[in-house]
Amino acid sequence: MLPGLIDCHVHLAFDAGPDAIATVQAADEASLLLGMAGRARQLLDTGVTTVRDLGDRDGLAVRLRDAVADGLLHGPRILAANAPLTAPSGHCWFLGGEVEGEEAIRDMVRNNARGGADVIKVMATGGGITPGGPAIWESQFSLQNLRTAVEEARRYGLPVAAHAHGTAGIADAVTAGVDTIEHCTWMSDGGFDVREELIDEIVAKGIHVCPAASPDWQGFAKRFGQDRAKELFARVRWMDQRGVRLVAGTDAGVPRAVFDGFVASLEFFQHVGFPRDRIIEMATVDAARALGIADDTGRLARGYRADLIVVDGDPLNDLDALRNVHFVIADGRPSVPERAVVRAVGAKVTGV
Ligand SMILES: [Zn+2]
Repeated sequence: MLPGLIDCHVHLAFDAGPDAIATVQAADEASLLLGMAGRARQLLDTGVTTVRDLGDRDGLAVRLRDAVADGLLHGPRILAANAPLTAPSGHCWFLGGEVEGEEAIRDMVRNNARGGADVIKVMATGGGITPGGPAIWESQFSLQNLRTAVEEARRYGLPVAAHAHGTAGIADAVTAGVDTIEHCTWMSDGGFDVREELIDEIVAKGIHVCPAASPDWQGFAKRFGQDRAKELFARVRWMDQRGVRLVAGTDAGVPRAVFDGFVASLEFFQHVGFPRDRIIEMATVDAARALGIADDTGRLARGYRADLIVVDGDPLNDLDALRNVHFVIADGRPSVPERAVVRAVGAKVTGV
C-alpha cells in the first residue's frame, strides 16, 4: 500500500493519438469533456490520484475537477491551468491563450484565475507539437513579459508553471520567479547550452523541475537518434546530481504519451540511474511539494487526504509492481481498476 501517485504534467484535452492536436481543435465542448472524463478515469485506474493539467480548452478541466470533487465522477484530483499563455500563433495557441504585450498578459492571467485555475501555465519557449510554431528552443516571451505573468498570478495567490525547452527561456523563467519548470531540456539553436550558474539558481530558489518524461521515452531515441537522446537523458541525471528537485510527470495526451503509461515514464528515471525509492518520492511526496499540496497530499499519514493504492508486489524492488494496481482510494472513495476486475474474473473462470 502506498500513497496515490501524482502526475505533475498532463493534458486531459489531448487524446495521445497521432492527430491529438487536430482532434482537440475539431472537438466540440461536450465530446471533448466526455473524452477528458474517460482519460481521467484511465489515470485513476493506473493509481494516479492527483494530476496537474497544464493546458486545456474552454475551462473544461476545471469543470471536470469540480465534477470529480463533487463525487459525480471517479477520477483523480485535478489541478487545472486553463488556457496556457502563449505568443500569437505560438506553442499550443489553439487552446485559446494567445497574448501579446503586458496588458493582454495580465488579462489572460486574470481570466484564468477567475475561471477557477489552480495554476498559471506559461509557454516560455516553443514546443514540439505545434505545426508552424516557433522553434522549440526559441523564447516566446521577454523577461519582462514573464515577470508580469508571475506578478499577476501572485495577485491571485497562484503558482506559475513555465514550459521551457530553450536555455534562454529557462533563464528568464528562473529570473521571473516561476514555481516549476516543465521539460527543462537546455536546448539552443541546433544543440544544447547548459549553464552551471543557472542550475545553482534553480536549486537556490527551490524551483521544481518536471522533465515530463513521455511513457514513450524509448521511442525518442529511435526518432531523434541515439546521441541526442543520450545527451538529453544525461542532463536529467546531471540536474539531479546538482541538487535540482525533480518530479514525475508524463505530458499525457500529447502524441504517444498515453494515459496508462505512468509506470513507463517512471522507468525512464530508473534507466538514467535513479534509485527506486527516490523515483517513488518523485511521484508522491516530492510531487506534492512541487504542486503546493504537501500539507495534505503525497504521504500516508493522519490528517492527510485518503489517496492511496494497493499494488501487487513491492515497487521498491521492482517498479513493475505499480502496473498491478488492485485497488484505488481517491479522496476517500474506493474504486477497482478495470484491469484488476478482468484479472480477478479471468482467474475465477480459469479456476473453474
Ligand atoms: Zn505539456
